[in-house]
Formats: sequence, C-alpha cells, structure tokens
Amino acid sequence: METRLKTVRTVYSLRRALELYRKAGERIALVPTMGALHRGHTALMREARRRARRVVVSIFVNPTQFAPHEDFASYPRDFQTDIKALREAKVDLVWAPPVEVMYPDGFATRIAPEGAAKAGLEDSFRPHFFGGVATVVAKLFTQVSPDFALFGQKDYQQLRVVTQMAKDLDLPLKVIGVPTVREADGLALSSRNAYLSTAERAVAPLLHRVLEECATRINSGENIERVLNVARIEIDLAGFTLDYLEARHAVTLAPIGSPSESPIRLLVAARLGKTRLIDNIAV
Ligand code: AMP
Repeated sequence: METRLKTVRTVYSLRRALELYRKAGERIALVPTMGALHRGHTALMREARRRARRVVVSIFVNPTQFAPHEDFASYPRDFQTDIKALREAKVDLVWAPPVEVMYPDGFATRIAPEGAAKAGLEDSFRPHFFGGVATVVAKLFTQVSPDFALFGQKDYQQLRVVTQMAKDLDLPLKVIGVPTVREADGLALSSRNAYLSTAERAVAPLLHRVLEECATRINSGENIERVLNVARIEIDLAGFTLDYLEARHAVTLAPIGSPSESPIRLLVAARLGKTRLIDNIAV
C-alpha cells in the first residue's frame, strides 16, 4: 500500500509541499472535492494521474455554496475513509483546509460568474451556488497553481462555469471535464445518493433512463420540446419533483430552438424525497 500521502491544512504548508514538486519540474493536477469520495472522484484522480506526475486532491465542504436551508451541516464527511481511497489512488497531497483557513475573519471578496452561471438551470434553484463555487475554485486555483484541474461532467453547468472563469481570469491551467461515472443501473454516482431510502434508490435510475430516451428521440428527428414535455410528465409520475429538464447548447448552455443548434446537452434536476439529484447527457 502507498504511504507517501501527505495532508496539509494551512496555505503555508501547502506552498512548501508544492514547491518541492515545482523545483523538480513536475507537473501538478488538482482534483477539487467535498470529500465523501466515490468512484466518480477516483475517475478524476486517475485522469489527473494520466496527465501529471503529482496529484493534489482538495477536500473542503465549502459553506459559501450552500444556502441556509441546504445540507451543509449534514453533508457526509468521513475523512478517514477518504484518506484510504486517496492512498489507493496514489494521490500525493491532500489539501484539507479548515473553514477559517479558507475564509479567515474579514474575508470580503467574491467572484460573481455570469454567462453559463446565469443559464436558468441550477442557478434558478440555487441562486447563491455558482458564486460560492467560483469563489472557492478561484482560491483553490491560486493556492495550488495546478497545470490541470479535473472536474466531473456530472456537474455540467459547474464545469462550464469553472472553465469560463479560468479563461476569463487568464489562469494558466487547463480545466478538463471527465465523463460521469454511473452505477450499473445508470444512476450517476453522487455523495448525496447516501440520502436515498431503499425505495427511492430503486426509482432514482429513471432519471438517466429518461435522458437516454429523450436523446434517442431527438436524434431520430422528433420535436425537442414535445419530447421533453412527455419526459417531464414521466419523471413527475415516477414520484420526483422536477426542477428542470432542458435541452441546451453544450457550450453556452443557451436554450436550443432547433436540432441544428448543436452540440446539444440534456440536463435534468429533480428531487426525490429529501434528495436532490442532477444528471445530464450529450445528444
Ligand atoms: P463533489 O465532491 O460532489 O463536489 O464533486 C467533486 C468533483 O467530482 C466534481 O468535479 C464533480 O463533478 C465530480 N463528480 C461527482 N460525481 C461524479 C461522477 N459520478 N462522475 C464523475 N465525476 C463526478
């Protein structure tokens, strides 16, 4: 078993560890996470390892991206289990700052992303979310200065927002999107799947199934809005509370008028009991 894994909790010790890598001319890849690691996260680490000699994983449950009524307090946290997964994935460095290191007293600066962050998808239901994500990711990028940063396509709007932010701020790194890792029945892996009851877990894969059906029908030339309307009813009847099911331009996330406006991405968010699930696929 790999034992080199080092955990740092202050910006000073992070910089000291990174300096050694840079002095050796080694490339660095960063995988930002909120912990409660699963195979989706380890897929990002594998891709990171493919691209860079050194892999840094951050574990930080970021309070600024949760609204007061959301699950910040109850979000799953299991550092010891995470460390085991990180060792097995041969990660070099864990950046696990306490909240007061990330946001010291007097912290007063926020990034306010627009464009994809105002697409009317996640932002309509979690208005504070992308401001919080962009701010913490900008901090992670400047703290670590990685050559590569790996994000999951599972959080597709987030991937677009972070990619645009890195470009707009001239940050010298490449943001890479990694395909969604799924359970055998199609359910996208998520730390929040732990909230699902047995009955809800049995229903949850319907979301991905419906996305696949929609993609097939749109590809065969059916009217997009009609296809989506039928799918919205199907999701509703299965017991979900639908937040949105949309066909959007895969890069800008702007609404799609006709199938010629490709590439198209289908994005869905729905609540099942207390659990909010999101998913998306390419058409
Ligand atoms: P989280 O810890 O949930 O904030 O996720 C950290 C990173 O892992 C984000 O870039 C997510 O998009 C990515 N991720 C989460 N679930 C999956 C999955 N099922 N497949 C691929 N990437 C994922």
